[in-house]
Amino acid sequence: DTPSLDRQLSYEERALDPTVPNVARMYDYFLGGKNHWPADRDAAEQLLKVAPWVRDAALSNRAFLGRAVEAVAASGVRQFIDIGSGLPTQNNVHEVAQRVQPDAPVVYVDIDPVVLVHARAILADNAHTEVVQADVRNIDAILDHPDVRRLIDFGEPIAVVMVALLHFLADADDPAAIVDTLEEALPPRSVLIFSHACTDGLEEGTVKEATAVYSGATATMTARSSADIHALFGDKWTWHEPGLVPVHDWRLDPDDKALLPKMAAHFLGGVAI
Ligand code: SAM
Repeated sequence: DTPSLDRQLSYEERALDPTVPNVARMYDYFLGGKNHWPADRDAAEQLLKVAPWVRDAALSNRAFLGRAVEAVAASGVRQFIDIGSGLPTQNNVHEVAQRVQPDAPVVYVDIDPVVLVHARAILADNAHTEVVQADVRNIDAILDHPDVRRLIDFGEPIAVVMVALLHFLADADDPAAIVDTLEEALPPRSVLIFSHACTDGLEEGTVKEATAVYSGATATMTARSSADIHALFGDKWTWHEPGLVPVHDWRLDPDDKALLPKMAAHFLGGVAI
């Protein structure tokens, strides 16, 4: 049961194996949720030893997601496709978006069948939401999925959410091509709400030890430098103010007081137009 052998199993098989640390459940553990198993907690604790700021980074990331969805919904974009949506927690995308636009359609997409069981349970009586199991590496299949097309009008602006997702793709998965496909497929005035783990300011050894924790998990981790994260976007996207910044600093109102202690730039987030 070396990581390389594990990788021969499908994502679904690994996600259902209680001995394989699961990236969705590890994140839930960092957020203080209840949906995690011993292997997830062990791996999460191992990561906290190497990178004690990870819990704050996860909380800051989740708070950024809420602020960004609220701002985008308030700007008039009323349809959301949340890819790599994760286990339902507080301030899920449909809750935030539908507070601003009560009938905002929201499609949740995740590769992990366990995540989707939880998502379906909390969304059962929400007529404006849909849940799709899919792999972001097959972005065309997501954009063409019948349930996506049923709920989302490709003649109107769309907000795609890919928050804390693309660092689970290796360079070989070509995450830049995924961003490029979105740029071509989305209607004008669409946005991409985005965040990604960032290696700036970290020792190489810390990055290696932290990413090694994920080598036996459901998905591997590829943290990238801010230059490499910017490069995923090519030159066709522009960043909504305040740009691609540490998630903690992504605030529309500069007077908005931070809820968490100010953190190093280990998680970058922004809204790309
Ligand atoms: N977006 C949420 C947030 O930031 O609060 C949850 C992020 S969670 C850390 C990452 C999610 O990405 C997990 O639920 C995992 O199952 C999902 N994921 C990982 N690889 C994926 C892939 N190739 N396609 C779709 N989802 C994926």
